[in-house]
Amino acid sequence: KLFTELELSPEILKAVAKMGFEEASPIQSESIPPLMAGGDLVGQSMTGSGKTAAFAIPAIEQVDPSLAETQVLILCPTRELAVQVAEETSKLAAFKKGVRELPIYGGASYERQFRGLKKGAHIVIGTPGRILDHLEKGTLQLQNLKTIIMDEADRMLDMGFLDDIKTILSQTPESRQTVLFSATVPRPIAGLIKSFTNDPTWIKI
Ligand code: AMP
Repeated sequence: KLFTELELSPEILKAVAKMGFEEASPIQSESIPPLMAGGDLVGQSMTGSGKTAAFAIPAIEQVDPSLAETQVLILCPTRELAVQVAEETSKLAAFKKGVRELPIYGGASYERQFRGLKKGAHIVIGTPGRILDHLEKGTLQLQNLKTIIMDEADRMLDMGFLDDIKTILSQTPESRQTVLFSATVPRPIAGLIKSFTNDPTWIKI
């Protein structure tokens, strides 16, 4: 599909054009409409499929920049992936005035992350351990979260983050949109989907 067929804002269309994207990839064509409609989604697709933009575009479209609150949380298994997802999200949001993204991962300075959170980061992208640290310290609050996205959920499971993810999920509003991407769906991930998503659209590409 063409991006112009996906009912996106002029700011997002401008950003994808600037990034050199011509057509939406299959995962984007299938995921963006149900996500824009506010539904939960489980996506099974590989790196290289364009899954980052598939979940980041609808997430950015939902942000109300006039509210200085975290509205979107993207959980990633590693700092490398968090940095990559934050960079892509930042490019996609480049023409959305006042939308702020913040990567949060272990090994980096708490102080800097704390200052970024204090300013009001609309989209927080991070690893579960450090996100949980900030929740416990009260430096990150999720009571106004609209969407939570779990990227590479199977890898987060392999890295021992399942309990942290459950704790984080339990601190978000029940009304949230829940999105999970995973190349494979081992039993604990199926359990997570069952407990924390509401009638999700399944997309396998
Ligand atoms: P991902 O699968 O999200 O890691 O994306 C893989 C690469 O494809 C990244 O470099 C993206 O910037 C790029 N990409 C994502 N969507 C598109 C698209 N619709 N057209 C061309 N390139 C894309």
